[in-house]
This record gives sequence, structure tokens and C-alpha cells, in this order.
Amino acid sequence: MYSILHLETSSLYRKILSDISEELNCKYIAVDSCEEALKIVATENIDLILTAMELEDGNSISFIKKINESESTSIPIVVFTGNDSAEDRRIMFDLGIIDYISKKSTPEEIKKSIIAYKSEDEISQKLDKLKIAVCDDSSMDRFILERIFKMYSIKTADFYESGEELFTSGKEYDIYIVDLILRKMSGKSIIMKLRSSGSESVIITISGIDHFKTVSNVLMIGADDYITKPFNNELFMARLKTNVRSYLLVKQLERQSEELKKMSVTDGLTQVYNHKFILERLDQEIHKTRRHAHKLSIIMFDIDHFKSVNDTYGHQFGDVILRKVAEILMNSVRDIDIVGRYGGEEFLVILPESSSEEAMVVAERIRLRVLKVKSNKTEFSLSISGGLVEFDNHTSATFVKDADMLLYKAKQNGRNRIEIM
Ligand code: GH3
Ligand code: MG
Ligand code: MG
Repeated sequence: MYSILHLETSSLYRKILSDISEELNCKYIAVDSCEEALKIVATENIDLILTAMELEDGNSISFIKKINESESTSIPIVVFTGNDSAEDRRIMFDLGIIDYISKKSTPEEIKKSIIAYKSEDEISQKLDKLKIAVCDDSSMDRFILERIFKMYSIKTADFYESGEELFTSGKEYDIYIVDLILRKMSGKSIIMKLRSSGSESVIITISGIDHFKTVSNVLMIGADDYITKPFNNELFMARLKTNVRSYLLVKQLERQSEELKKMSVTDGLTQVYNHKFILERLDQEIHKTRRHAHKLSIIMFDIDHFKSVNDTYGHQFGDVILRKVAEILMNSVRDIDIVGRYGGEEFLVILPESSSEEAMVVAERIRLRVLKVKSNKTEFSLSISGGLVEFDNHTSATFVKDADMLLYKAKQNGRNRIEIM
């Protein structure tokens, strides 16, 4: 849980911050002196410090200095004050605070700021789950980066001295931090190799060279950022986080678009393909079959007397049965077979590379499995009929029409049966 430490003597502002913290599901600790605050920092996990300028034991400057000079932790500090002097503001920023909020701000404005700090912290948390590779031949630079990572509690970094070592490891990373001048394979070669293999990871170049031509060239060949050495810890982390934020955003968008794509071809009730997509797939399979002179069969299934299932047990129960039948269909076919909901209680199954005899085996398996569907409603029984056609120069329309015609025949011949052309 995100923890906020508030150094404040006024009960009014404590109340405002405590309410905001509660709303944002944060832990809130209030103290009125620097001495107490130091004790809390030493014993608790604090993610954000908000401090007034005047406290019980003097002003907060020495406290801010102590926290910001600490080697082991890095807690962002925000000054929250009624003091509007531009000069004081400057002094505080010079001490390394990350923000300065006026007490004249509305609670809504304060809340917005806290949300922003919190989301910054969430990036840090996510950063900890990403895999980082550092490739640098200078042990000093590796040591510096190791210290920065330690300071920001990043435990997932691997260190390499050369590109060869990195690539022979066979490991893939979310973030690559690459030195530009390396002994054998150059940093540029590493970047080009990563990008040409399709890597979308974050690549940050670190280098002592700051000539604009080098920087622009490295960015052109695919690095996301270029940081010159020697670098400041906080600036390095800020740049890293900025890149990670974009990286995570792209990943999230990719996941969402995958999800949308899946939804657009799936039938919501039964989770098999929908009418539109099963017909698209049928066209594709017909093309493939023509090209490779393979066999191809389809079966159109329709649940028997489904109207009476609905009428007797209700529409909701009917939906359960539809899902159950879809599940049987999916579990009775091979990975390459394609199952779709053609209409209300009609399902189309496409069986690539299958003759009608082979498809008949599958159709019978499905028919028998549907017969076994039981319910705690005792008298309940279920059956399915099917029309099976093997491809013979059909279009998708005539193919489906033939299957439909055979399905109609199966119904006329007493249901619970598969008719074949
Ligand atoms: P037959 O053996 O001749 O196929 O008889 P049937 O009753 O199955 O055929 P009919 O075409 O008369 O009825 C189909 C029923 O399927 C009617 C419709 O309410 C029901 N149905 C269609 N889609 C859904 C659905 O999504 N959920 C439920 N519960 N019922 C549906
Ligand atoms: Mg029916
Ligand atoms: Mg029907």
C-alpha cells in the first residue's frame, strides 16, 4: 500500500490529507516534528513525504537535506505550505524536493497531485518486474548502475561486459542499457541487432560522447534514449521511467487490441467463432483446399426440439445448454478444425483435410456426446442432428446450402442423426 508521511502541525491540513489518503486507498501517517519523522522513515516503508515548512522543532530544511542526502533510500519529498515566497520555493527546489504545493490549492487539486506521485510510484513498482540488461565494459559504470538500482529497489538487472556475452546468454530483456563504446561488438551493433530481430524493448544508450551527430545517429538506429556520462542518479531514473511508461502503454494497447480482435470474431454466449467469422474462415479453407487439392468437409449441426427446451425450462437454461453443446463441439474436434455458431442453435464445424468418412467419425462422436448431456431436471434429454458435406467444387454459399439441406433431411428422418450427401 502506498504510504504517505505528513509533517504538519495544523489539524485542518492533517484532516484534508487524511481524507484524500483514505479516498486514494493510501496509508497516512502524520507527525508534527522532524525528529518523529526521521524515526518513522527509519522504521516504516514510506513512499511519499509531504512537509510543511514550519514544524514543532524548527523548519523542515535540515530534515529535507537529511532525506535527500541519504545513500540508502530515495523518498520523494513534496513541500506543502502556505508560504508563497518565490525565493523560498527556489531554496526548496534546490534541496531536491520534487514539488511545491500551496495550501491555497483546493482538496481536488491536492488530490490530483497525489494521484500523479502515486502513478509515478506505480511505474517504479512495475519497473521492478521488468527484466533489465546492462551491457558496459567499464566496471566502474556497472558499479554505479548497480548502486542506482539498489537505491531504487530494482533487483532484476543482469550485467554483461560485452555484446557477445549478452547475446550468448540467449536471454531476452524488457530494458537494455547499452554502453556505446565497447571493446568488440559496439553499442550500435547491439542496438541494430536487437531491432533487426524485432525487439520492441526499451533501449537506452549511455555514453561519454555527447556530440549531437553521435546522439542523433544512435537514436535514428533505434535507441529510445541517450544519456551522457557521468549521469545524475535521479535524472537517470526519471529518463528510464519515462521510457518504461511508454513501453508499458504500448504493451497495454497491444493487449487491448488483441482482446478487441478476439471479441470481434467470437460469439459472446458460446465463445466459439461468430457467424461472420466462421464464413470468412470457410472461404479461406475453400481457397486452401483448391490450391493444395486437399479434402475438406463441413457439418451443420442443429439442436433438436430446442424450442421446447426453452419453453419447458426457461431461456436461461436454454443458454446453459447452448454453451454446453459448444463446449462438446470444441472438445470433440482437432486443433485445426473450426467451430462457429451459425445461428441461434445451429453450429457449423469446418474440418480441413478431412474426407466425408473421416468427418462422419467426428460427427457421430459429437452426436453421442450430446445424447449424454444430463441435467438434474430428471426427464431432460438432448439430441442434435447434422448435415455433412464433403467439398466438391462448392462456393461457400452452395457448400452451406447443401449442408442445410441434409440437416433438414435429418430432421425429417426423425432427428438425432447425421445425414451425408
Ligand atoms: P428442430 O428440432 O426442428 O430444430 O426444432 P427446434 O425447436 O430446435 O427449432 P426451432 O427453429 O423451431 O427453434 C429454435 C429455438 O432456438 C427458438 C429460439 O428461441 C431458440 N434460440 C435461438 N437462439 C437462442 C439463444 O441464444 N438462447 C436460447 N435460450 N434460445 C435460443
Ligand atoms: Mg433446432
Ligand atoms: Mg434451428
